[in-house]
Amino acid sequence: MKDNLPPTGNGLAHQARKRFGQNFLHDQNVIERIIATINARADDQLLEIGPGQAALTDLLADSGARLDCVELDRDLAKFLKQRFLGNERVTIHQQDVLKFDPRTLRPESHGLRVVGNLPYNISTPVIFHLLKHHGLIRDMVFMLQLEVIQRMVAGPDDKNYGRLGLMLQYYCQVEHLFNVPSAAFTPRPKVVSAIVRLTPHREMPLTAKDPACLETVVRTAFNQRRKTLKNSLKPLFSTEAMAQLPIDTSLRPENLSLADYVVVSDKLSELQSQNPDG
Ligand code: SAM
Repeated sequence: MKDNLPPTGNGLAHQARKRFGQNFLHDQNVIERIIATINARADDQLLEIGPGQAALTDLLADSGARLDCVELDRDLAKFLKQRFLGNERVTIHQQDVLKFDPRTLRPESHGLRVVGNLPYNISTPVIFHLLKHHGLIRDMVFMLQLEVIQRMVAGPDDKNYGRLGLMLQYYCQVEHLFNVPSAAFTPRPKVVSAIVRLTPHREMPLTAKDPACLETVVRTAFNQRRKTLKNSLKPLFSTEAMAQLPIDTSLRPENLSLADYVVVSDKLSELQSQNPDG
């Protein structure tokens, strides 16, 4: 069995670093369940974010898949490089994943499979960073805070529905797979965790004229989620333009579907192209 505690530069066992969101998985049943969910094959191209002490990495590497890992912590990256020395299918990148460009891995279209027990402090920025390249990604299996996943899967009329769910569901199918208790980690996080699978749409079911406008409309609407749309969207539409929107503006932001938001955002794109300075 391989040593699980990498030494630090001073020769001591690795101390979990809070600033890097380090909660290491030790529960073998949970690890195996995640690995079975990912179900990697030798011809897969995997990207693991935050491999840490290799709880998932060892078993991912055993699949024979090509595996690139991005780890920010220098001590852990050094340990991982040593651990996978001689395995030509595994590459360790000591880098901030938010600065890592997945195109450098040259994946085939819809080929890359991304996995990771994400550092919770940066989990949503990481996902939106990757979604800039959604056409390269086949699927993503992540461990996140349960509360974040509840927001990701929520639909209209749910109190968890909002910007995160809408923008993710625009790009992906989102599935909450199973929960993981905090006892599965060392140190224990204060929150319950869960596994989510995000599968970027191969054919986008809805296409906004300008996804940046969709983002603007959704953000503006949910900035004042308790107001009616007539009020919350005021910063974006004149009274005249508001009256032309093909939605019921006496509803609240949480009552509109993603398709409704795309219609509103296309109206905003239209207005902006008619009046690019305004
Ligand atoms: N995969 C391991 C496990 O399941 O036990 C570790 C998971 S731990 C929650 C998150 C990992 O992400 C840590 O190893 C941490 O050092 C790494 N990390 C934190 N911020 C990062 C960043 N910006 N880029 C890449 N890795 C990061």
